[in-house]
Amino acid sequence: MAKRETVFVCGECGYESAKWMGQCVCGAWNSFTEERIRPADSAPSRLSGNNPRSAVAALSRKPVPLRDVTSGAADRIDTGIGELNRVLGGGLTKGTLTLIAGEPGIGKSTLILQAALHMAARGLTCLYVSGEESAEQIRMRADRLAASIPEGVLMLNETDVDAVCENVLSLRPDFLVIDSIQTMYTGELSSAAGGVSQIRACADVFMRIGKEYGIPVFIVAHVTKAGELAGPKVIEHLVDCVLAFSGERERDFRLLTASKNRFGTTSEVGAFDMREDGLAEITDLSGILLDSGGFGGGADDGGARKAEGTIVTGVYEGTRPLLMELQALTAHAGSGFPRRTALGVDGARLAMLLAVLEKKAGLYLGDSDVYVNIVGGLRPEGTAIDLACALAVWSSAKSVPIPYGTLAVGEIGLSGEIRSVRHTDRIAAEAAGLGFKTLILPAKNAEKTKPPKGLALVPVKSIQDAIAALMV
Ligand SMILES: [Zn+2]
Repeated sequence: MAKRETVFVCGECGYESAKWMGQCVCGAWNSFTEERIRPADSAPSRLSGNNPRSAVAALSRKPVPLRDVTSGAADRIDTGIGELNRVLGGGLTKGTLTLIAGEPGIGKSTLILQAALHMAARGLTCLYVSGEESAEQIRMRADRLAASIPEGVLMLNETDVDAVCENVLSLRPDFLVIDSIQTMYTGELSSAAGGVSQIRACADVFMRIGKEYGIPVFIVAHVTKAGELAGPKVIEHLVDCVLAFSGERERDFRLLTASKNRFGTTSEVGAFDMREDGLAEITDLSGILLDSGGFGGGADDGGARKAEGTIVTGVYEGTRPLLMELQALTAHAGSGFPRRTALGVDGARLAMLLAVLEKKAGLYLGDSDVYVNIVGGLRPEGTAIDLACALAVWSSAKSVPIPYGTLAVGEIGLSGEIRSVRHTDRIAAEAAGLGFKTLILPAKNAEKTKPPKGLALVPVKSIQDAIAALMV
């Protein structure tokens, strides 16, 4: 029987199968790609020859006293970009592998190059490995980003992992960038660059070399919303941080979020404005997120009312309060199952809130489609947005507009009670600063929150209380 020469690999989980399958064991559909497997006898031994990777592999490890181990937290490297530091948990940690994923053209390379320029300006050495763009193209970008280019940024146009390793070993840079992982290949596998096996093998090499020499490594990976470039998913378990850089290409607003971070929280959000001369940090994120609605605005328009189904809510993400606009729309369901579409809000959470609204507020939506959306593409964690979500749905279903300058925070329990959330004092201060008039909040929180100037606190104990507060 002839030996198999190819294998089918799932782009979601890395599962290998001898034959093509429509659905993988992990549940993904159409996720298999065919890859060649190398004949076993031609495989170079990892410990033979002058292969720099074998040098990495062959380094012996000895036990060290735990007492002498440093946590690494002390020597964080400042990337020079506050919002990037924030999402990383206070800067770069030595020897960590970070995956930054996003759609092609969204600005991943710009962000990382900007960080490299900042670090090099402080005397650090950054090796920027580009498998896609030429050194000239990157130079042109760098010219837009910085007035003068520090000598510490070194360019390498290379796609062969072994050659990259050789350079890393001789240079020992303070920061290594791989742009992008999809262009890298190792000669140990005969499959094409960008395939799941290649991505996995290359990321493994970069992880080991980074850990061995204490070099923080940034891996750029292209992903698409439709998921046709699903490969990077298989290395998420391997890396220390998974960052997502997102935004719409037509708009200049960009968000940096972490879905995994071994050295910090995943609740921090970084925000940027994409400009001709690079990414500018947005520190007043709430103001930007509310821009479209002009909710706070500061101007008193004599009690004019906003559209139905739109309310502002606040969360405390990471280390700062964030205000955002939440919209709901209910519409008569045409036929069959009513739709439930939640963007930025957890679908199961929305289903629970609809059940509470039905049971406690008499709002039956069994024959209605319900859409909920958080403006700006944020996906806040936690339950502080529950109350705003329920009130927005109620407002849309009942065609009752929410009074101008109102925001709501609070968790909703199954019996319709409003439970307290964290840091309402900080949210209140942020809201007052942006010109909001009324904050609907859990009664428990209201007891401990000093109302800032210009902002009225409306404490509520139940969903019925909250609805009554809107009716006045
Ligand atoms: Zn799978």
